[in-house]
Amino acid sequence: MDAMPSRDEILKALEAVIDPELRRSIVELEMVRSIDSADGLVRVTVSLTTPGCPIRSHFETAVRTAVGALPGVERVEVGFDVLSDHEKAGLQKKLGRPGGLPEGALAQVSNVVCVGSGKGGVGKSTITANLAAALTADGKRVGVLDADVWGYSIPRMFAVSGRPPVSPQRKIMPLENHGVKVMSIGFFVEEDSAVVWRGPMLHKALTQFLEDVEWGQLDFLLVDLPPGTGDVSMTLAQLLPQAKFLIVTTPQPVAQKVARRAAEMANKVDLEIGGVIENMAGFVTPSGERFALFGEGGGQALADELDVPLLGSVPLTMPLRVQSDAGEPLVFTDPDDPASQAMRHAARGLMAMFPVELPILQAAAPAAPVAAPTGMSLPMAG
Ligand code: ADP
Repeated sequence: MDAMPSRDEILKALEAVIDPELRRSIVELEMVRSIDSADGLVRVTVSLTTPGCPIRSHFETAVRTAVGALPGVERVEVGFDVLSDHEKAGLQKKLGRPGGLPEGALAQVSNVVCVGSGKGGVGKSTITANLAAALTADGKRVGVLDADVWGYSIPRMFAVSGRPPVSPQRKIMPLENHGVKVMSIGFFVEEDSAVVWRGPMLHKALTQFLEDVEWGQLDFLLVDLPPGTGDVSMTLAQLLPQAKFLIVTTPQPVAQKVARRAAEMANKVDLEIGGVIENMAGFVTPSGERFALFGEGGGQALADELDVPLLGSVPLTMPLRVQSDAGEPLVFTDPDDPASQAMRHAARGLMAMFPVELPILQAAAPAAPVAAPTGMSLPMAG
């Protein structure tokens, strides 16, 4: 049997474990709390910035892989604790971010999924709303952030409107319907008013939606992105480097080309593409005849090209459109409609993408901290 590696050798191996949010190694960030090794077993404790850190499983896998590869190591156990306020302050200073690490409301959100498309009108919001419905129907706690600042349609799809209330802790409370928490820029601007969004304004609004909204405990936060690429993707990549990106496309080859550009942007800003969903894939008449109105195979071809799974292929169905307009996602009202079935299938693929953390690895959940007032200068009509 090989001799056990020394503490320094283990630390050296841990330099390969990068905090995706802060983009530095956990060794450099002084987040390695302890290393114990004996009889082929290495125990590593990593200190997180927030207890509900959604990238915990990333660290666990990365530490296991890095340390497990050293000769003499047979087993690796990974534990977690949380940096003290004093340590956090030191880290902030080191990072030159006295404004604070991203923490707060999102600490209780396990997984963030951004839904994007190359262009408008391919059904991105419809898919987001029904994926949220399918995840909810499967017992998950779900929120939808409508970041489609140029065409917010999520409020209509969930039949929610009005100004969200503000909690005594000065957090914005999402509106809720069908058990899904919803936040949209549409709640804050006059209906049909033309808002000219400039980059920094958009950045500020999205930051507030992620940090100042009381999302509470969520298994999934789905973010409905504006079509195309650019400012919003950049901002989200900065704020949510651990998010996965889903691309919605229609089946024809031209659409695939447009969707590919969204994928390229996601890649450029290091957002991981989780999968493709094809929408408007064929139309089935009541007598069962099928017409491929928008061609065929584009979703699969894009997924193959990006080397990610095709999570679903959603047909055109009249009830899907009708229910979207009526404010009740079809998956809730008719789970057996072919479009609902495809959406439920895609939601299962999504759940499989995020392995459930074993409770034994989770630190005891602390009482939610009362956040300091962070300013309520939310959007910004006219
Ligand atoms: P996007 O968010 O990409 O701009 P939307 O989700 O707003 O697109 O969809 C555009 C329109 O197409 C909406 O009226 C929606 O109800 C309809 N629609 C989307 N997907 C389907 C589908 N598979 N079957 C029928 N209608 C659909």
